Order: sequence, then structure tokens, then C-alpha cells
Amino acid sequence: MTFSRRDFVKTSVLGAVAAGVGTQARAESAAQNSPQEHGAHAGPGKRPIIICANNGYAYLENAFSFLKGGGDTLDAALQVVKGPEDDPKDDSVGLGGIPNEEGVVELDACCMHGPTRRAGSVGGVRNIKNVSLVAKAVMLHTGHVMLVGEGAERFAVDMGYPRENLLTENSRKIWLLWKQFNSTDDWWGPGLDDPHWQPPSVKPQAELWKERIKNLQAHAAELGIEPARQLAAVRKVVFPPTGTIHCSALNDKGEISGCTTTSGLAFKLPGRLGDSPIIGAGCYTDQDIGSAGATGSGEENIKVAGAHSIIENMRHGMSPQDAGMDALRRIVRNYNGDMNKLRFVDMTYYILRKDGAYAGVSLWEGYSAGNPHKIAVHDGTRRADVTTSLLKGYSQEFPPFPDIPEELKKNSEYLK
Ligand code: ASP
Repeated sequence: MTFSRRDFVKTSVLGAVAAGVGTQARAESAAQNSPQEHGAHAGPGKRPIIICANNGYAYLENAFSFLKGGGDTLDAALQVVKGPEDDPKDDSVGLGGIPNEEGVVELDACCMHGPTRRAGSVGGVRNIKNVSLVAKAVMLHTGHVMLVGEGAERFAVDMGYPRENLLTENSRKIWLLWKQFNSTDDWWGPGLDDPHWQPPSVKPQAELWKERIKNLQAHAAELGIEPARQLAAVRKVVFPPTGTIHCSALNDKGEISGCTTTSGLAFKLPGRLGDSPIIGAGCYTDQDIGSAGATGSGEENIKVAGAHSIIENMRHGMSPQDAGMDALRRIVRNYNGDMNKLRFVDMTYYILRKDGAYAGVSLWEGYSAGNPHKIAVHDGTRRADVTTSLLKGYSQEFPPFPDIPEELKKNSEYLK
């Protein structure tokens, strides 16, 4: 390999972080900068309504018809999240999720059923695609709330969910590329006799950025990643992505439920659980108040019990948007407002109050201009609303790297 993240981090993290400070100079509280309220925020909204992360958009139509026809609120929400779980092309959830550092897909999910005030959750589940449904099965068929790992997998099989290989060829190749990328110091990737092998570079890493992308792309091609997906694979390798779907559904009677499902952080340590399976962090529903869920930096959300904090805020009278902004401020507070750190954190909350008022709020506006965070909504009209952000500007992907060339950031293949 010509470079590795390890080399990079060793040689230029400090410079990169320093360079980044200026880029986030625009970071400031958007709360004082005309927060946009979605139409429904201030007063009651419409019922029935479903809200979800934007990767659920395509599945809203059917779920909304089901809900409107009298279907249960949790089943409607599960219908939405099952879409990305079943989709091998969505590499953030279920089948085709990007695996952990050992190449194994591990899935997390949780759900809460408002009308019966019950909850279920599973974490670190291997070989079972529809973990959101398994979370519901834990809720319905056990006296427990949470099952993890092998026990959760065996429970899923007992409940009739088939074991299957969740690692698609696409995700396997991305994982292999990641392994090679990080492996100049071991025996993965090109050896000394490989034409691509180069000694660690002493040039400033920022100067080598384009060359690095080119080399990684060449390795992606060697691994058989199709041309149109190579740049996206490179991005996922350099900046291990998160990705998740949350959905909350409210019917015309005021019954409300929510669920969240994910493959978690790409290349995570085996056994790592993020916020998604944690009742009160990745999802929380209270039949008296509403339902909330999260996507983004799981570790940060666990520390502020995001979804639960939002519900409690609404219980004490805050609007959905204010409730979400307050949870985001708690994340900011945990870092004493240090933008050198916060710029690597991002979080989006999806919030639905029992009267149909809703909000989508994010820590940052999105990843880059033209790529804003969105919340998908169906209340008779299906749409994707841009979320309201607490901070002006765009989050930086982790780990710290020099600023990525703007032309690459706008490249639709890189952004896939
Ligand atoms: N929150 C998820 C996790 O930390 C990832 C995500 O939402 O993208 O596992």
C-alpha cells in the first residue's frame, strides 16, 4: 500500500485538526439564527402520521396506507424499517450492512409499542436480517426487554427467522479494501513484491490526497468493485460511516410507537453496541407524550439518553423542536462546546408528539452543502424535510483528515 490511515494519523492529525478549525468558524448556535419550524411544530399536527430517517422514504407510502386502514402503529413503523433491512444495497442496515472489523455483520434494533407500553431490543445479532422484527418478538414472547449476541440469534431462529449470510459481495469488498487500507504494518494488502507497494511516504499527507484516492480506487478496481461504486467505497473506507433508520408512527386515535434498526458503525469492534438498541437513546416512546429516535454518533447519543431526554422535555412543555435542540445542546455541553471535537460528531433526532406535531433536528446542517440532513414524513402527503440544525455548517467525517477537495465532495459517485 502507498499509505495507510495509521501513517496518516501519525504524521498529520495535528495539522489537519488545526487546519480544520478555520473551516468551522461558522459554527454557531442556529437557535439564534432563524430556526425554521416545520408547519406542524408550534401547534397540533395531522394524524395519522409517520416520520422516519430519509432512507425510509420509499417505504412510507405502503406503511401509511396500512396505518390509515387501521394497522397497528408499531407494525406500520416496522414496515418502514424492514424496507432498508431487506435491501442489500442499503449498507447501513440489515442485509448488506457494512461489517465489523472482522468482516462480520452485527445488527442492533429496538422498538416500543405505545398502546401497551412495552419494549423489545436486540444487539450484536449475527446472521439474522430483520432484527427490528426480532426486537418486537423479544417484546411479545419473552419477559425480557433486551437480548444480545448469540442468545439473541438463537432466539430469532427459535422464532422462525432464518439464518442467512448478511455480508453481500459489495460489503465484503468494502471491508477488504478497509483492511488493506489499514494494513501497511501487517500481512494484509500488497506485499513487497507487489507493483503497488511503496515505502511509507514522508511527504506531507495533504499533498498526497489525490494520489491516495487514486490508489485506493485502483485497489477497489482490483477487488472487483464496480466502477460506479469505487469512489463511494473509498469514502467508506477512509471515513467509516454510520447509518441507521428510525421510524415513529401515530394513528388517528393517538396511539404511537417507534423503532430503530442499524448495522451500526462500519468496521466497529466486534460486540460494540451503539445507541440504536438502547431504549431511551436510539428510540423512546411514551404513549402519553410521543416518540423519538436518533441516527448519528451513537456513543454521543447514549451519553445524553437522547430519545428519552427529548420525550421528557416534551412532557415538561417543550415543542418537539425545542426538545430536540435541548438534547443536542447536551451533546455540545459534554464537549464544553469545543468545535475541534464537535465537528466530528453528528446527530439527527426524529421527534413526533402525540398530537401529530413533529420535528427533525440535527447537530450540523449535513455533511456538505447540497447534502442536508432530512426527515421523511407522511401525513397524507409524503415529503422529505430538511432538518433544523443547532450549529451552522457541516460535520466533518471521522477520523481527522485534511480537507477533502471540494470537487470530490460534490462528486455524486463519492457521495453514494
Ligand atoms: N447511531 C448508530 C450507531 O451508532 C449509527 C447511525 O445512526 O448511523 O450505531
